[in-house]
Amino acid sequence: MSKKKICIVCEKDSDMIPLIKFKFKGEKYSICSEHLPILIHKPQELAEKLPQAEDLPAGNHDH
Ligand SMILES: [Zn+2]
Repeated sequence: MSKKKICIVCEKDSDMIPLIKFKFKGEKYSICSEHLPILIHKPQELAEKLPQAEDLPAGNHDH
């Protein structure tokens, strides 16, 4: 995947929705305001979008 500035979840760009840029494990990513709460509260749900997201400290871990 190219390094376009799109939300890692919904792939909208900043023309469509506010995007927040962040860095994780040295890589740069963007996430939209709509999906930012997922990154904060349920980062494991982003594991397939965000390599090693399962390493993130998250509150609840329901397996
Ligand atoms: Zn999004």
